[in-house]
Amino acid sequence: MTIAIIAHDGKKADMVGFIKDHHQLFNRHNIRLIATGTTGAHLERAGLEVEKMLSGPMGGDAQIASRLVEGEVDMVIFFRDPLGKHPHEVDVNMLMRLCDVHNVPLATNMAAATRLVQSLE
Ligand code: PGA
Repeated sequence: MTIAIIAHDGKKADMVGFIKDHHQLFNRHNIRLIATGTTGAHLERAGLEVEKMLSGPMGGDAQIASRLVEGEVDMVIFFRDPLGKHPHEVDVNMLMRLCDVHNVPLATNMAAATRLVQSLE
């Protein structure tokens, strides 16, 4: 199973904390992580294993969307910052739309991410 992780800059610290809190659960269930570039770099710095795509504004969300439509992503956790402006908003919207098209579970905040990850147990 593969989970895609994306975090806007204002949410990266929360994201790292969340993934650290759940990495044993991910290991137990053989879950691999893929992430947009900077999000992935933060995870690597925290000692976590992750496959990195390009940075979001350079097309990383689009790369994750491409994997998703090929059936290679089982869940998306997107820690969005609703108060920020993002140059690649169209890519973000595309990814979220494709989650709906392909019925892939998508969490866009910490509360939803927690519930979603708990469902793995
Ligand atoms: P980033 O991209 O991980 O490269 O910062 C995140 C995003 O798509 O906003």
